[in-house]
Amino acid sequence: MPISPTSRVAAALLLAACAAFAHAGTMHTPQQQVPGVYHQQIGQLQVTALFDGTVALGRQELVGIDAGAVTRLLDHRYVPEDSKGLQTAVNAYLVQRGNHLTLVDTGTAQCFGPGLGQVLSNLRAAGYAPSDVDDVLLTHAHPDHLCGLLDAQGEVAFPKAMVWLSKADADYWLDPASEATAPQPLRFAFKLARDAVAPYATAGTLRRFAPGDALPAGVTALDSHGHTPGHVSYAIDGGAGQKLLVWGDIVHFHAVQFARPDASYEADSDRRAAIASRRRMMAEAAANGWWVAGAHLPFPGLGHVRREGDAFAWVPGEFAPLPAK
Ligand SMILES: [Zn+2]
Repeated sequence: MPISPTSRVAAALLLAACAAFAHAGTMHTPQQQVPGVYHQQIGQLQVTALFDGTVALGRQELVGIDAGAVTRLLDHRYVPEDSKGLQTAVNAYLVQRGNHLTLVDTGTAQCFGPGLGQVLSNLRAAGYAPSDVDDVLLTHAHPDHLCGLLDAQGEVAFPKAMVWLSKADADYWLDPASEATAPQPLRFAFKLARDAVAPYATAGTLRRFAPGDALPAGVTALDSHGHTPGHVSYAIDGGAGQKLLVWGDIVHFHAVQFARPDASYEADSDRRAAIASRRRMMAEAAANGWWVAGAHLPFPGLGHVRREGDAFAWVPGEFAPLPAK
């Protein structure tokens, strides 16, 4: 039976009323942020940024740059800051190639207190099971990158995974002898590193490698030491001319260190080497148009680097729908 114009109008009004009612019924004040998950297709790679939380870094922890320049650069970027310091994201990255899952860094888990340690829950929110992760690549052995090898109960978080740590970082951070001679503020990190890798070492699933060694799924580790003795960045070829550089801790203060790559983080183990590595990674990423994923860049920390004279600028990626399968 044909619908009369009058009943069409009535139906349209009813639908509008329902929509208004539904809208009124769902209006609320958000109690928490949406899950810290972001997907980016890079060639054949399905990359998922996983938010762990934020830490506060004091602006005074920037060295090799005068305070006036720091203030000007921070003001230009409106970096959130409270009494504890500058808001600094902690990110990890899951890279899927076909059925192979590689996780680069694992977040802080229980090591940095409340508000962090969200990598595992965000991994699940992204639709992945931790037990499906094939390889965990660590950029270095600091607690905000490897504590997440263990879950909240202190159990192995990635039971199927092989864990990869550079030989130079393993030699330094897993050795109690180096703890005794380390600067006092860094000493807490040694036990955390040993504890995080211990069950994997016992199970025979901890692998030490040198930059240049063959890594799973065609990943290449680039030497970018300086922040730690064995810090590495991972170059991952997505095909179709697309490359991703998961660069770890090349930058801690994004508002300052792209414009002033010569500004160091106090906690860098070798500042001169850290500056050289920062310049090299930024120059390569900019010259080749690589995607970059940064552990302490504002979430999701995926984007590109642009050269600006002798310095650089960060160009965040744009929100994009995923290509249809
Ligand atoms: Zn870090």
